[in-house]
Amino acid sequence: MRTDIKSMYPEELEQMLRDMGQPSYRAKQIFKWLHLGVNSFDEMTNISKELRGKLVENCYISNATIEKKLISSYDGTEKYLFSFEDGETVESVLMKYHHGYTSCISTQVGCKMGCTFCATGQGGFFRNLTASEMLAQLQTEQKDNGIRISNVVLMGMGEPLDNFDNVMRFLKLVSLDDGMNIGMRHISLSTCGIVPRIYELADKKLQLTLSVSLHAPNDEIRSKTMPINRKYGIEELLKACKYYSDSTNRRISFEYAMIDGVNDGDDHAKELGKRLKGIIAHVNLIPVNTVSGTGYRKSKKDRMNSFIKILEGFGITATIRRTLGSDINASCGQLRKQSLQKTSV
Ligand code: SAH
Ligand code: SF4
Repeated sequence: MRTDIKSMYPEELEQMLRDMGQPSYRAKQIFKWLHLGVNSFDEMTNISKELRGKLVENCYISNATIEKKLISSYDGTEKYLFSFEDGETVESVLMKYHHGYTSCISTQVGCKMGCTFCATGQGGFFRNLTASEMLAQLQTEQKDNGIRISNVVLMGMGEPLDNFDNVMRFLKLVSLDDGMNIGMRHISLSTCGIVPRIYELADKKLQLTLSVSLHAPNDEIRSKTMPINRKYGIEELLKACKYYSDSTNRRISFEYAMIDGVNDGDDHAKELGKRLKGIIAHVNLIPVNTVSGTGYRKSKKDRMNSFIKILEGFGITATIRRTLGSDINASCGQLRKQSLQKTSV
């Protein structure tokens, strides 16, 4: 088994190189190359051929290969389908905002959580991604566009808190000065609500933004659309959210996909407003993306505006998320599904 060198912390790399009889500055040089996104050891021009040969024998570099790329003609948003060494594929979306580039990356191939509105959830779970495979998605996008990504959201395929250790490793690596140098304040992590892991994350006191996919004002609706809610109900989840914002002083962002006739009534808005009182929160309303087979439709615009007004009455700020790349189906899970259908024909 060769070592996944791009997932190693600097001190681990240093130890490995010391064991190979190398001085510690070599580790720094190699770390920099890896986090610039080189695809092979041969690109490390300041490393001797002999050492490169040894590294090839013992280690491998994770890459994300572009299988497919769609570009939105509306706003330039780019949606990628990447493959890894074992042929598994994930999606990632690169968005351009006035403050720079934001990439939305995947943390797992598929997802175990089975949310009924989500294309990824409907496709089942395959495996966790390594920290290096998360980094590789960003690096390939940077190289493909000749840009630097300034913000990262863990909102692609998969449930980040169900792949906790690899995600924590990714977060640490991506924020290092010698690495991609993307600070925690520029990173958001989205979860469907795995309560014990929210406490664990809170105790790490990272300055990242926590997004919680709420999507319903009560247990009855939430348990129907999000199976995780049968394990950890809304009250328990909101208690964990309060703990997170109290211990990190960070505002929680709640995601709420508006589904016509399911969770978008005025009564639902009132129920949500009451529930969220006392939590430093922001609600992001997202018109649900229609996924074939789910039967869900987007809420009407005036329904969403009425929902916002009611929340504001409770002192909660809410906005309608600007949907980027709507012509390329930028919500995750759908491109992989199409490509699997094509290959299985
Ligand atoms: N597993 C994590 C992160 C990945 S999903 C989570 O659930 O939070 C990223 C976001 O997309 C979540 O808020 C999720 O609920 C939302 N989402 C999934 N399918 C969607 C759809 N069809 N329309 C709108 N949002 C959707
Ligand atoms: Fe998984 Fe998130 Fe999709 Fe739910 S919404 S199935 S948690 S990726």
